[in-house]
Amino acid sequence: MKTALVFIEVKDNQIKKSSLECLTALAGSGWTLHTCGFKETHSCVDELKRWGVQKHFTTDNSDLDKFNPETHLQFVDKALQESGAQLFLASSNSHGRDIFPRLAVRHDAAYMSDVTEIKIEDNVSIARPLYAGKCTARVVFTDDSKKIILLRPNQVMVINPNGSGACEVISLSPQEGAGKNKTISIQDGESEKLDLTEANIIVSGGRGLKEAKNFKLLEDLAAPLNATVGASRAVVDLGWVPHSQQVGQTGKTVAPTLYIAAGISGAIQHLAGMSGSKNIVAINKDDKAPIFQKATYGIVGDLFEVIPVLTEKLQSLK
Ligand code: FAD
Repeated sequence: MKTALVFIEVKDNQIKKSSLECLTALAGSGWTLHTCGFKETHSCVDELKRWGVQKHFTTDNSDLDKFNPETHLQFVDKALQESGAQLFLASSNSHGRDIFPRLAVRHDAAYMSDVTEIKIEDNVSIARPLYAGKCTARVVFTDDSKKIILLRPNQVMVINPNGSGACEVISLSPQEGAGKNKTISIQDGESEKLDLTEANIIVSGGRGLKEAKNFKLLEDLAAPLNATVGASRAVVDLGWVPHSQQVGQTGKTVAPTLYIAAGISGAIQHLAGMSGSKNIVAINKDDKAPIFQKATYGIVGDLFEVIPVLTEKLQSLK
């Protein structure tokens, strides 16, 4: 039987939704399921049993809690060797894109990031956008050689598993401090909100907001929706918000259930990062703005009038 290994990430003692999406992609595939994750995953073993995970590779080394590409690489390398998996699945985020291409080189494995569709049957097949979303590549792996696949968050609807078997927990000890990199410190970003790539609802603003201080309007709208605030590159370049909030070709690629674009024209480079959103609401005073061609719902109007009304309505529903 074929074996798949899933990299598990945890936040607040819970398996992250993006990791549950990877587990969902494997549900019902008939493949043997292994997982791996750092020390923080110890608290999630019962949950992994419900997913039918047979082996979980982890570590007691809390050095790995700090990001270090070399020690993290060593850990996933060991996990892959011990598991003997043909397929390694992880979430397509900045951590994954740092670690897994290096792992692919070590294992002479096929590597695909930013995957938006995956089918795991006897063969594995995937789809991923190319050229800023202008076309989609569909790839079928026809042999059993190793594959490392990073799945874009919010592409798979998480199921509720009901497995119950045993899960063997295996502790690995990657060498401490090996290599040339040493992490001195990690500084958290300012926002407590979910990262844009994992957010279910995003409220994004563009140059139509006129001034940096008007982003407060979007934060007020985001609060009752529990949304994360994003931005176009134009306002990032103006220094109104940090680059971590930029959506688009040279920013983050997002696929939330709801994307609200306020005062954003819908340039091709912006659309490249958000057109995979399930529902797009555009607020723009120019009825010819290209964003309306992608929008599920469009509001032609002045955002300074529309947003306060929306915010008030949403607050009253809370
Ligand atoms: P604008 O295009 O100036 O649009 C502002 C919009 O606000 C207009 O449609 C206007 O009608 C509307 N508006 C104005 N006032 C109001 C009001 N009161 N109420 C309602 N609506 C109002 N862009 C990205 O976003 N992400 C990227 O990753 C990215 N990468 C790029 C990479 C390259 C190589 C290049 C060349 C460009 C890239 N861009 C990117 C820039 C992109 O081409 C656009 O310049 C940018 O997206 C425009 O941002 P905007 O929509 O906020 O501004």
